[in-house]
Amino acid sequence: MTDRYAVIGNPVAHSKSPWIHSEFARATKQDIEYVRLEAPLDGFTRTVDEFRRAQGRGANVTLPFKEAACSYSDELSPAARLAAAVNTLAFGPAGTRGENTDGSGLLRDLTVNLGFPIQGREILVLGAGGAVRGILGPLADAGATTIVVANRTVARARELVQRLALPMLEACALDALAGRNFDLVINATSTGLTGEASPVSSGVFRKEALAYELVYGRDTAFLAMARACGATTSDGVGMLVEQAADSFSLWRGMRPQTARVIAALRAA
Ligand code: NAP
Repeated sequence: MTDRYAVIGNPVAHSKSPWIHSEFARATKQDIEYVRLEAPLDGFTRTVDEFRRAQGRGANVTLPFKEAACSYSDELSPAARLAAAVNTLAFGPAGTRGENTDGSGLLRDLTVNLGFPIQGREILVLGAGGAVRGILGPLADAGATTIVVANRTVARARELVQRLALPMLEACALDALAGRNFDLVINATSTGLTGEASPVSSGVFRKEALAYELVYGRDTAFLAMARACGATTSDGVGMLVEQAADSFSLWRGMRPQTARVIAALRAA
């Protein structure tokens, strides 16, 4: 019988996950079906329960349900526990396992696809939302010496940094970065989606810095500014595909090749 998976969010119509997972399934000869499920804002648990009753084997979870998915899980991976956010659910006879593959996906894109090692780097992370919760732990584990989390609402950045309690983490306001620069600047704000101005000025990019935009498929103001400063740039399409490959691996016990899928999305 075909195994069923889904991406659950609200909205979810834009999600590329069904296409990515069907490409993985085709390449690895796995018999799966993967659908989009838009849960009502007050109906995440109901939607997941119904999908499980309909033989769902696992799900990806996107905005705004990553915290709800954490509460739903019977068991959490170390990354999901640290993030207090779940983007992958695996349903088994003993219950639901919650995982967070956002950070592992980003790390793989940075280190493997872009050849940018994290050990010893000074990193600026812009934003303190759901995506940032998942990426701080893996960046810290990979050996970053400093990770500054700068957010428009500084209290959110402080709360996140205090909760994680990792020695290399600092929180600050976006306008408190004057005089500081970094090896890697990650834009995890939603400014790229909404077409707003870059959340930081050009002074944050060190010579030979990498500027990484989590939003994919758009030339954002952040990327344009970084390019003008001579920084290397990347959008988040590699992270999107790598986090999906980590979910697929959790569900199916095999990690698919990602290069062809990343290239196809970039070309589209
Ligand atoms: P989120 O939880 O809604 O957080 C949004 C963040 O953006 C908050 O820190 C918010 O600051 C900040 N922000 C919004 N408007 C801003 C502005 N005008 N100026 C400065 N900061 C602003 O969203 P998320 O889930 O973390 O996702 C963030 C982005 O990453 C989204 O664009 C999403 O599409 C992308 N993403 C990509 C991948 C991938 O695989 N490539 C994975 C996950 C997410 P406040 O706290 O002050 O509101």
